[in-house]
Amino acid sequence: VEASGGMTTRDVVSGGSGPAGLTAAVYAARAMLSPLVLEGEPSSTSDQPGGQLMLTTDVENFPGFPSGIQGPELMANMREQAARFGAELRQVRATRVELVQSPFGVWVGDEEIRARCVILATGARALMLGLEQEPRLLGHGLSTCATCDGFFFRGQEIGVVGGGDSALEEALFLTRFASKVSVIHRRDQQRASKIMQERAMANPKIEFVWNSRVTSLVGESKLSGLVLADTTTGEERTMDVGGLFVAIGHVPNSDLFASQVGCDSAGYVTTLPGSTSTTVDGVFACGDLVDHTYRQAITAAGSGCSAAIDAERWLEAQH
Ligand code: NAP
Repeated sequence: VEASGGMTTRDVVSGGSGPAGLTAAVYAARAMLSPLVLEGEPSSTSDQPGGQLMLTTDVENFPGFPSGIQGPELMANMREQAARFGAELRQVRATRVELVQSPFGVWVGDEEIRARCVILATGARALMLGLEQEPRLLGHGLSTCATCDGFFFRGQEIGVVGGGDSALEEALFLTRFASKVSVIHRRDQQRASKIMQERAMANPKIEFVWNSRVTSLVGESKLSGLVLADTTTGEERTMDVGGLFVAIGHVPNSDLFASQVGCDSAGYVTTLPGSTSTTVDGVFACGDLVDHTYRQAITAAGSGCSAAIDAERWLEAQH
């Protein structure tokens, strides 16, 4: 950290505090780069500090926790670990960035921060149905990730909402655990690729529920069923399920900088092959903001580590 003319220039400023952002912070802090982490705002559902793991309960596939760990506890541990090595963590969100050339400008309201390097780790969010009961039941029978949570629904009947490749991929994966999987789609035609449709149709555990919208979720502390409305007749009916997976797509949290760094058509930040470098020299990106394929806590953490090492080497090459 270096002050000149009243303005402080940090070596590394990062945005986002999920597994990618906090792993980057641990590595950058241990490289004596005193990173500043803009964690996001506690009141927000899309950029809450800790990221998407704050919306889950048990995490059983993060290596190193043989009996599993709660998502929020895992994130609290990562945060503590980053702070222990000197990362500065602030529960605020950047409101403006200027990523033309290093040193870059990052603003939190009126406060301007200068950064030699920027690490973007703002993640992605799963699209939700917008139902009143969703926040309460997320992690309690309602999920957005079959790889993460499918295991908890062994022997149960499960619903999957969506008609794209994600919905069918989730449904096919869930047949390993569920006694039956109902794919609930608002139209009578899938958007998913032919091959995925054929695979799903051929699976005896998968049933398609066409022209149906989920209008409400049943259950107080745990999901037990759904209310479905027929999109052609408006008629409502209930369906008992032990779990519901919403698979209607994800969006990356890249609005703040999508016009300044290279992104693909869906808004995910593009990085150079085998690296976390973006199209802007000195700006690195990691985690779900970049990755729409794996979307796992451990892959995000791994890419956060890569981003910090890339940033460290880049800074060293500058001096
Ligand atoms: P997607 O293709 O955009 O499909 C989203 C689905 O959710 C659509 O069927 C849509 O219905 C439905 N939907 C959207 N909003 C809804 C709402 N509010 N209520 C109810 N239903 C809603 O998204 P995706 O399936 O996540 O796929 C994203 C991209 O990744 C695609 O290009 C896909 O091919 C690719 N992908 C590929 C694979 C694979 O090849 N294995 C796996 C996953 C994803 P409508 O059809 O009526 O619009």
